[in-house]
Amino acid sequence: MIDKKIETIAVREGYKNSSEKEHSPAIFLTSSFVFDNAEQADNTFSKKESGNIYTRFTNPSIDLFQKRLAKLEGAQDCIATSTGMSAIFATIMSLLKTGDHIVSSRSIFGTTTIMFNDIVSKFNIDISFADLSDINSWEALIRNNTKIFFLETPSNPLLEVVDIKKLAKISKKHNIILVVDNVILTPIMQRPLELGADLIIHSATKYIDGQGRCLGGAVAGSNDLIEKIDNFIRTTGPSISPFNAWILAKGLETMPIRVKEQFKNANILAHWLEQQNFIEKVYYLGLKSNLGHEIAKNQQSGFGGIVSFEIKGDKKDAFNLINNTKMISITANFGDTRSTIIHPTTTTHGRLTDKERIDSGIKDNLIRVSVGLENIDDIIADLKF
Ligand SMILES: *Cc1c(COP(=O)(O)O)cnc(C)c1O
Repeated sequence: MIDKKIETIAVREGYKNSSEKEHSPAIFLTSSFVFDNAEQADNTFSKKESGNIYTRFTNPSIDLFQKRLAKLEGAQDCIATSTGMSAIFATIMSLLKTGDHIVSSRSIFGTTTIMFNDIVSKFNIDISFADLSDINSWEALIRNNTKIFFLETPSNPLLEVVDIKKLAKISKKHNIILVVDNVILTPIMQRPLELGADLIIHSATKYIDGQGRCLGGAVAGSNDLIEKIDNFIRTTGPSISPFNAWILAKGLETMPIRVKEQFKNANILAHWLEQQNFIEKVYYLGLKSNLGHEIAKNQQSGFGGIVSFEIKGDKKDAFNLINNTKMISITANFGDTRSTIIHPTTTTHGRLTDKERIDSGIKDNLIRVSVGLENIDDIIADLKF
């Protein structure tokens, strides 16, 4: 539970300065740590004494980022990773074994789908795909060996949602670990652990850095589960660099104020797009026309910074609109202070099969915009078509 307000936690949590009394957190760019004598080394390695040994295990800069994010998510513990993908992979590989089964929502990050289908499946771990918002479809896919429910809500790029509380009731009844990828909303706008989820996944690359500088990931949850994932990470090595962890800890400081402004801009853009003649359909949870609007209003405290839309016409028209922008960056990243635009079918979701893409509802005329911190008038002007 949170004792201070989130904005305060984001800037204050997790740092104790060194004997130098620096105000800004120091960066501990060191691969290992020294001992006063052989006895202390012996005691630290055998865990009779606590202390840093090697950065693949622990490091003060990494610790700062983990503590801050754990507190923001209302989690007992958090472990950082080199990327969002390694956070997902470490979670799956540390908690499951051959013969286990995962139920995942269909609309997840494209690379996660490929990881499940092409890599995780090689270890004889079966994966079934549910319709994110249809609770019954999750329950229908449960088997005796189902160990994990995996989902993103809202999903990217179509912003479907699921009622986390309702799904958590089902996962608890069947002893299934509920894993929520909380990248799109951040803990500022959605706190799934408080709604009954067991683990949170982050790609810190997106809103946590928020300035397009580095990759990073994290998993947050109970001490029990995080210890297992931590053991996997320190043994197999997808640890985060202390430098990246420092960037991300500083990123958290401005994240509350950034996302509030970005989400406000996104809401204005979505309402503007809905009025335009060249638009077929707008996907944004702040629009009453969106299927997930009511659930989103209840379980989120903001509608997100991503606006997706179908343009009237086909892929050629979508390309024309993207090429017509002068300011917005054409890039796959999102959550940046600079607005970005991308054509999902040919880029972020290009490695999916046609069937996987069609099942996910991603059409050739779909465009995704991640709204940044430019003035909203300039963003709108750049999208006029
Ligand atoms: C980007 C992203 C990931 C993967 O994170 P990386 O840091 O790029 O490895 C996972 N899930 C979601 C929802 C993402 O947007």
